[in-house]
Amino acid sequence: MANYAPNDAEAIVDRLAPAEARSALHIDLAALVANWRQLAMASAPAECAAVIKANAYGIGQGPAAQALYDAGCRSFFVASLEEAVAARASVPSAAIFVLDGLASNRLSVFAEYELIPVLSTPPQLAQWIEQAETHSNRLPAAIMVDTGMNRLGISAGELTTIDNVSRVPSRLPLTYVMSHLACADDPEDPKNFAQRTTFDQVRRLLPGAKASLANSAGIFLGQPYHYDLVRPGIAIYGGRANSQNPNPMRPVATVMARILQTRTVQRGETVGYGATWQATRTTRLATLACGYADGYFRCLSASTIRPAASVYIKGYYAPVIGRVSMDLMTIDISAIPEELVHPNVWAELMGTHVLLDDLADRAGTIGYEILTRIGHRFHRVYTGP
Ligand SMILES: *Cc1c(COP(=O)(O)O)cnc(C)c1O
Repeated sequence: MANYAPNDAEAIVDRLAPAEARSALHIDLAALVANWRQLAMASAPAECAAVIKANAYGIGQGPAAQALYDAGCRSFFVASLEEAVAARASVPSAAIFVLDGLASNRLSVFAEYELIPVLSTPPQLAQWIEQAETHSNRLPAAIMVDTGMNRLGISAGELTTIDNVSRVPSRLPLTYVMSHLACADDPEDPKNFAQRTTFDQVRRLLPGAKASLANSAGIFLGQPYHYDLVRPGIAIYGGRANSQNPNPMRPVATVMARILQTRTVQRGETVGYGATWQATRTTRLATLACGYADGYFRCLSASTIRPAASVYIKGYYAPVIGRVSMDLMTIDISAIPEELVHPNVWAELMGTHVLLDDLADRAGTIGYEILTRIGHRFHRVYTGP
């Protein structure tokens, strides 16, 4: 693939998106791979996996998995069995872990695609041990232990009541004992150390098993949290993992939409549903081909009194005005030289100039939600690595 300057999403979609595309999503796989490498270096000698659940946080499971595999990633985590089966086609020889755990009637699917269940209840554990002892193909498993998240996982207390728990690692090919941090985005939170302490106690019950605790934010907590394998997701996709420090990752996804129409309104005129924005002076407007159906949150709407998110066009920022509707949104282009803004011109709604996490902050959510809600109407353009 051709090489492009990383900040040049506009030039890229101009060249690679068809003329009829009303909106485009550029995925910079070179940035994705650079982010993963940076995390792998920060956590070495621990192995660095990649979490590719939810369509690789919205950016596309197949291209993400293949690019990361080519960069050296050998372990992938997905949420569901369906996601795992899809991932197997992209990375035929990688380890694929299924975070949902084991659904009893799907044992044969795990076997057929050589998937690794993350066992999270005592019955799931018992069932996998049984199949490990009665079948000739002994398939590996991981165990999720709950150390304070209270979501999925065998609780640390429950584990001690399992008969001969210390023999579990010898009765099935146990690849990892795992747990998940609840507050790792805040390095000062005492729950991080508390969970690590509980995790170390749990590990003594399962001698010989390798260990995995850290998500993206956990990697930034430092070496004592890395163990044998780290499981970053959001940081690979350019999102902020740590709420305290500047985000060191490169943006991966750029959302672009075309201007469909421009117009000038006079003082007193209103814009959009509910007439929530009223012009206080003559204002030039542009209507963009993107709305909440595309994942641009309706709560990013702006009224006359509420300042809004901005989009980026050819070196200028243009604020959103009025309500975001299903397919369309309106921006104020008064500050942009007239010759630069006309129908078909691209606006960046999120990317290197409008950062994912700034947009998320404005929408009252997190980068994870913005990414995973990117809609299906975008023409997707992948470049690199
Ligand atoms: C989603 C998930 C991750 C990845 O978390 P990020 O915060 O995106 O790095 C890691 N481990 C488990 C169990 C998860 O569910």
